[in-house]
Amino acid sequence: MKRELPRPASDDGLPSQISDLAAQVEKLTLRLERERDARLQAEAIAERGLRQLYEKQQQLQLQEAIAAAANQAESIEQALQFALQQICRYTSWPLGHCYLTQPCDGQQRLVSTDIWYGDDDESLRTFCQVSVQMTFAAGQGLPGRVLASGAPTWIADVNDDKSFWRVDAARVCGLRAAFAFPVVSGGDVVGVLEFFSSRRHEPDMVLLRQMSQIGRQLGRVVERKQARQRLIHDAAHDALTGLPNRKQFLCQLDQALLRQWHDAHDGFAVLFIDLDRFKIINDSLGHLAGDTMIIEVASRLTQALQLSPDSCALARMGGDEFSVLLDGIDGICDAVAAAERVQAALSLPFLVRDQEIYVSVSIGIVSSETGYTRADQVLRAADLAMYRAKALGKNRYEIYIPGMHSGKVSRLTMETNLRRALKNEEFVLHYQPIIELQAGEIIGVEALIRWRRSPQQLVYPGEFIDVAEDTGLILSIGMWVLREACRQMHQWHQQFPRSKPLTISVNISPRQFAQPNLVEQVHEIIIGTGIDPATLRLEVTENVAMGDVERSIKILSQLRSLGIRFSIDDFGTGYSSLSYLHRFPLDVLKIDRSFVAHMNDDHERLQIVQTIMTLARNLGIEVVAEGTENEEQVERLRAMGCNFVQGFFFSHALTAEDVGNLLRVPYRVLNAAYGNALRAPR
Ligand code: C2E
Ligand code: MG
Ligand code: MG
Repeated sequence: MKRELPRPASDDGLPSQISDLAAQVEKLTLRLERERDARLQAEAIAERGLRQLYEKQQQLQLQEAIAAAANQAESIEQALQFALQQICRYTSWPLGHCYLTQPCDGQQRLVSTDIWYGDDDESLRTFCQVSVQMTFAAGQGLPGRVLASGAPTWIADVNDDKSFWRVDAARVCGLRAAFAFPVVSGGDVVGVLEFFSSRRHEPDMVLLRQMSQIGRQLGRVVERKQARQRLIHDAAHDALTGLPNRKQFLCQLDQALLRQWHDAHDGFAVLFIDLDRFKIINDSLGHLAGDTMIIEVASRLTQALQLSPDSCALARMGGDEFSVLLDGIDGICDAVAAAERVQAALSLPFLVRDQEIYVSVSIGIVSSETGYTRADQVLRAADLAMYRAKALGKNRYEIYIPGMHSGKVSRLTMETNLRRALKNEEFVLHYQPIIELQAGEIIGVEALIRWRRSPQQLVYPGEFIDVAEDTGLILSIGMWVLREACRQMHQWHQQFPRSKPLTISVNISPRQFAQPNLVEQVHEIIIGTGIDPATLRLEVTENVAMGDVERSIKILSQLRSLGIRFSIDDFGTGYSSLSYLHRFPLDVLKIDRSFVAHMNDDHERLQIVQTIMTLARNLGIEVVAEGTENEEQVERLRAMGCNFVQGFFFSHALTAEDVGNLLRVPYRVLNAAYGNALRAPR
């Protein structure tokens, strides 16, 4: 712009004109300077604003990049690796490293990972090597301080910081400033990221705040991954025990079948395990107690089979059923050995609600040698074998053999068949002698029901009594048993009179015992058959008697007033409260055969038998040892003062005709091995 210069003054006014001019120049100069300052200031403000804007943008970019990576990352490690790289680039700091927490001796420790940035720099090698060898508890070193406080931490120069453990290595590598921040998930520190610079830096609080946010973002990846893993896990696992469920087990089984298809030598076996009498435990002690037991069973099975907690070899199939996949076994012997380990592990008592409870299991075994190609076929075969084990008296294992199918009928068909059997009088009673050891005599018999389905087929109670109980058919069947047993006994009493009349024991089921008119019905049968009530012994299991103690005492007392005697059956398998026992009008305790069977090889069971003997002696009641199968057991029992036994050693259950033949001859050796001490009653 063209400036207008002042006009020259006249000669006589020259000095004043010059001074005017100088003043004007000075004014102008000052104005110019002010304007320049203002411009510079404005420029500085603008630049600062721009820089802040740029930094803010950089921060946002960093955060967005990490957030995006966190969302897309396939693993937590991948997200952490990305964050490390981005932060190092953002800060221009050369080194970054990540620690993850791990439980150790009851506390959390930070353990070095192989997630690094800058570790490939040769000059930093020493520091990296020292770092990977260290773990930090809360409060220890830089990572430990972050773990303890849950907040980011800054060190301006590690050389001046006494709490920095790796100072020597840092000095060797020329590292000085450091900061670290936590990865927080669900309120817990799950990891720590640390960064190092080769220069000293005063704390940057803005950066630390930003790192806090990134730490929370990364924590959400951990949460999301955990939630997804939980979902996947839950879909394949049983909520109560945490074991794989049926679906997962079938997948495992499919894999095993596939392996075997590729390599025929890669054999496997499946055990199908079902608790015996679990329903009674559940019903009488409540579902919570039942749940506690199932959890304990799962843990014992895991231990017995020496499985790692994350193994998929053991599954809960539902209710009280478990399955085991034994992979890579040499033959069926391995499966049998595993079944025996399972039985042994569950034979020790369970402590539920301060009561010792004994359970047994029935196990079905199927091996890959059966040649099945589908998982459901294998499982069905194992189930069938288990069903067979139940039918043969429970507390045992059975190996599947093709053709077992024919023996199994559905529950519904069974119910229909049982109704028909009752109508067509297909039930029969067999009688198992009860022996008095001292006198060497049969003192009584227990009536045991059988179902004669055809001339060739005799079905044992294990196969139908549960269905009869569940459907209520047991009420009619039970009354038939009682009437028939009393009729038969009355006939024997008349045919073979003796000074001490033979007794007849009859099993009364839980449902029968719960019937309101039980006493009237029994009374009517005694009158109808003419039997001496003192020779009748009703057997109820422990759980039935202990269910509603007051009612039981009332019913038993009413029956006792008719002259009838009582036995507690399968004693030791239930939950007798010993304090109640003396209030029951009891005559006999029948020790369950599971104790007798293992008495000679299991010290604890021997002790239980001894305790029962002492208890019975104090209460003035008799003890009958069930399931006595060999001479050794007989001798042991006799030595302990047990005078009455029942079991295969002396006799299986016999037909009425065979019992009649036995009673006809006054002296009859029942077991040749046991010598001549035994006689039929006179
Ligand atoms: P329980 O009342 O405990 O009867 C004894 C069972 O043990 C019988 O099985 C008998 O054959 C078996 N046993 C006897 N000695 C030995 C031995 O030395 N070794 C072995 N391994 N077993 C032996 P069974 O006849 O199959 O009866 C099984 C269960 O069915 C009975 O157990 C009883 O709870 C029930 N039951 C049988 N008959 C009736 C009935 O008429 N009514 C009701 N409600 N239940 C019945
Ligand atoms: Mg019985
Ligand atoms: Mg019994």
